[in-house]
Amino acid sequence: RAQISSKSIVDDARASYATLDKLNANVKPSLDNLVRSTDFFSHYRLNLFHKKCPFWDDENGFCGNIGCAVETLDNDEDVPEVWRASELSKLEGPLARHPGRSEQEQHPDRPLQGELGDGVGESCVVEYDDECDGRDYCVPEDESTASKGDYVSLLRNPERFTGYGGEGAKQVWDAIYRENCFQKSSFPRSADLGVSLWPPGPAAQDFKHVMDAAGRQAQLQARRLHRPNVPFVASTGYEVDDECLEKRVFYRVVSGMHASISAHLCWDFLNQTTGEWQPNLACYTNRLHGFPDRVSNLYFNYALVTRAVAKLGPHLCGPQYTFCTGDASEDVATRAKVLEVTLRAASVPQIFDESLMFVNGEGPSLKEDFRHRFRNVSRLMDCVGCDKCRLWGKIQTNGYGAALKVLFEFDNNSQEIPTLKRTELVSLFNTYARLSESLRAIGEFRDMVRAQDGVA
Ligand code: FAD
Repeated sequence: RAQISSKSIVDDARASYATLDKLNANVKPSLDNLVRSTDFFSHYRLNLFHKKCPFWDDENGFCGNIGCAVETLDNDEDVPEVWRASELSKLEGPLARHPGRSEQEQHPDRPLQGELGDGVGESCVVEYDDECDGRDYCVPEDESTASKGDYVSLLRNPERFTGYGGEGAKQVWDAIYRENCFQKSSFPRSADLGVSLWPPGPAAQDFKHVMDAAGRQAQLQARRLHRPNVPFVASTGYEVDDECLEKRVFYRVVSGMHASISAHLCWDFLNQTTGEWQPNLACYTNRLHGFPDRVSNLYFNYALVTRAVAKLGPHLCGPQYTFCTGDASEDVATRAKVLEVTLRAASVPQIFDESLMFVNGEGPSLKEDFRHRFRNVSRLMDCVGCDKCRLWGKIQTNGYGAALKVLFEFDNNSQEIPTLKRTELVSLFNTYARLSESLRAIGEFRDMVRAQDGVA
């Protein structure tokens, strides 16, 4: 089975990138068509303004730039029929159960929602969500109950440069990376992030089940010896060499998302002198070109989401998915567009091998840990002080969450996959489209650098 494992992405970057770029050239037109031309995939309903940051007082972190604003659809008639409240009230999705409470009872020593490791000088947060399905990697935007939700046209609110930055943004990114604190060596260096939260403190207090697992480390070492495919992050400013696969995957997903956001804002950048939106080469060179690990993580995410979309494809034909209520022809057209994307995503040999993950003796508990951490990343989106960044941050974390759910919900080798909620489906395909656009933009930026350097 020919695979582009994460190792080959790192070790044989050119070949792997070329393969994924070629795949992207094939998938992108139908993917863009799907997210741009269907009501179903170009609208999103979410709770954008009414959730407080659960981790710190974010009063001062808000972005007042016009570029940060989100235009919501306030009139019912502007909202496509499929997204209207009357239709949403008919929705029946997988009902939430409450695994959180029972787990909380079993692990009363774990920090609860909103605590940032108070008093222990450490900030890995584990929380057990009362609202969402135990399988979710994200706090779901539950459209059927989100009475305070807002309708947003994604086309009218494109992800691009907003001017959001400074301490507020840094605080969020820093907290996101701290979710990767399965063990000390996975932390970003404080010097790199420019914050003073190092040293992180005893991660073991939160994650005894992870840290107690000395035996697991030994197992992983053994596995690594037998598994030449285990990926390594080419580290730039992060100490990640001595980690298990799962921790590195967590880090790569987050860093790849960060790289993708950087690619978009650098490509769609506001020239404040001319007032024009245009690519900013200096922005790209400062944030991505000199950081091959970040670019590698972006490609890694592309491979991961491609695999999830390809795996989901055959299941989208089932009766559990309807893409448009009330208009049979639009339903058929939307379904055909989705299937075209999934078929193209599946047109190459399997490019991400999820069967490598969570397979050691401690697999299930590590999976739980991974899931809780990713859910915290999703909660951190409510701390983003720029509405538009928060909108796209939520969509993308939900998209990765949906992809992880598709890949890891059941036994890794199972062909069974979970039924996704509508918001998960929309965020998955929009995240895929964002990644696809990042690959394209980075390709063009590379050409611009070559032209600037006078390389043919
Ligand atoms: P930042 O991008 O803030 O990075 C902070 C530090 O993280 C860097 O100094 C570096 O050490 C490290 N780092 C950077 N990239 C990576 C990576 N890929 N992997 C690992 N480490 C890395 N701004 C917009 O203009 N438009 C948006 O749509 C937008 N969306 C955002 C969404 C979220 C969730 C967040 C938290 C921020 C968003 N921002 C957006 C802000 C943007 O991401 C930057 O924070 C901002 O432009 C300031 O950039 P910076 O150069 O200070 O470094």
